[in-house]
Amino acid sequence: MKIITKLKKALKLFRAGDFQMLFSRVYENIMLLKLQLKLHIKRSLNPNCVILSAVEVIITEKCTLKCKNCANLLQYYSHPQHINIQQVIRDIDLLMEHVDFIHTLSLIGGETLMVKEIPEILSHIQKYKKKYFYLSITTSGTIVPSEQTLSAMRKANVFVSISDYGDKSAKLNMLVAEFKKYKITYFIPKKDWRYIQQVVNDQNRKIEEINRVFQECPTNCNSLLNGKLYLCPFLAHGDSLKIFPVDRRNYIALTDKSITKEDIREWQLRENTPPGCRYCSGNSPDLPLIPTAEQVAQALPYHKFHA
Ligand code: SF4
Ligand code: SF4
Repeated sequence: MKIITKLKKALKLFRAGDFQMLFSRVYENIMLLKLQLKLHIKRSLNPNCVILSAVEVIITEKCTLKCKNCANLLQYYSHPQHINIQQVIRDIDLLMEHVDFIHTLSLIGGETLMVKEIPEILSHIQKYKKKYFYLSITTSGTIVPSEQTLSAMRKANVFVSISDYGDKSAKLNMLVAEFKKYKITYFIPKKDWRYIQQVVNDQNRKIEEINRVFQECPTNCNSLLNGKLYLCPFLAHGDSLKIFPVDRRNYIALTDKSITKEDIREWQLRENTPPGCRYCSGNSPDLPLIPTAEQVAQALPYHKFHA
């Protein structure tokens, strides 16, 4: 069925004479087929290999915007910092030591393009280019990076996701012009904002309700922060901000020398709800719509569980 739909779409592009788009679709599908084949062979040769669909490496808590409902919880940081570059590099090394393949590896913030060391990070990631398929960066269209960063992005074949927040994404057009000039692939996804990954302070939430929120959560993306791999950015930033009590069931510590690939595989497949989910609104597409990128003047107050 999927193949028929794809063929119909390709035929439309052919009839419209849009050959550039047609060739890029064909190329993309060939690459995806190649990836599926590669993963199939990898799994056949080693059924125990660790393959992750997505990992986001958090490189900064700073952002040019302060969105009231940021799903990365940046609205709660009163003194946001860039993550130390040496730590980012160490975490990438630890990650690559523990996994065999990642479909999409992303650098994420905050505003990633605020980080001056992006060329250094990308150059380091290149060492592992056989271990991932896509390398992506997310930005909010508020910054045009330096020539050095643009060249490094081109060289690393980075794929950029630009969030368009209307007049708040003030540099979006300039950014797109630079990406075209440097032949950097980008896309501008259009998404409604929903009340997802928001802090819920209801301590009386029943365990059935928390389990339901987790079971319905389609989150399929791991976040890497401070040497720990989390299931999602809410758990990563929630832990860092101390929004919930310390609990090792919220992450897997890659810095722990006893952790093996087998542990990562089991951690991926486990069905138990991470305790931090108690404080999260979830990620269901049925959650209510909220205004996009509504701004706050200063960091929002919250209850810290420990010093
Ligand atoms: S621009 Fe993105 S990362 Fe920055 S505060 Fe808004 S939602 Fe969060
Ligand atoms: S429900 Fe749990 S896994 Fe899903 S986004 Fe919230 S904290 Fe993450």
